[in-house]
Amino acid sequence: MIDIEKYIRDIPDFPKKGVTFKDITPLLSHPEAMETCAQELLRLTESEKINKVVGIESRGFFFATLLAQGLAAGFVPIRKPGKLPYATLKQPYTLEYGMDALEIHEDAIQKGDRVLLHDDVLATGGTAQAACRLIEQLGGEIVQCNFLIELEFLKGAQKLRNYEIRSLLTY
Ligand code: IMP
Repeated sequence: MIDIEKYIRDIPDFPKKGVTFKDITPLLSHPEAMETCAQELLRLTESEKINKVVGIESRGFFFATLLAQGLAAGFVPIRKPGKLPYATLKQPYTLEYGMDALEIHEDAIQKGDRVLLHDDVLATGGTAQAACRLIEQLGGEIVQCNFLIELEFLKGAQKLRNYEIRSLLTY
């Protein structure tokens, strides 16, 4: 079995000094590592009934689409403001310095949809928390939030304590 951790590299001082960025591009360029990773993420869902997989822009899209395919579910993108073409719902959230926001198409989730939220990295949890709010405002039920990587020391899981959280790798 492939050790997917070998395909994630640390980039010191990116995007700013003092931050070590987990770069998943080596993993994306390796087909067997991608396949293993997709299978492992799928296994985390434990055959739960899920009919929508929501991926967060942009690195969340890679595996969210594979997960959607594996679960025979629909894929829904959550994006930065101004990127989605149809009517959207917007959720602002706090960053370490300043604010940002995420958007979802207002017809992307129907009441009662059983949703898996996926992103590549869980850091402070602000991004995933904002995404959960959007999904719930549209009436979706969040079955699980899963991540390729959880940076445990940033305590993002505390912001998501009302949800089932799974991660393939923790640091
Ligand atoms: P949070 O809101 O602090 O949890 O940050 C999570 C968001 O930032 C996710 O959408 C990630 O894609 C991105 N992110 C944070 N740290 C990293 C990293 O080390 N590598 C890749 N993406 C990261």
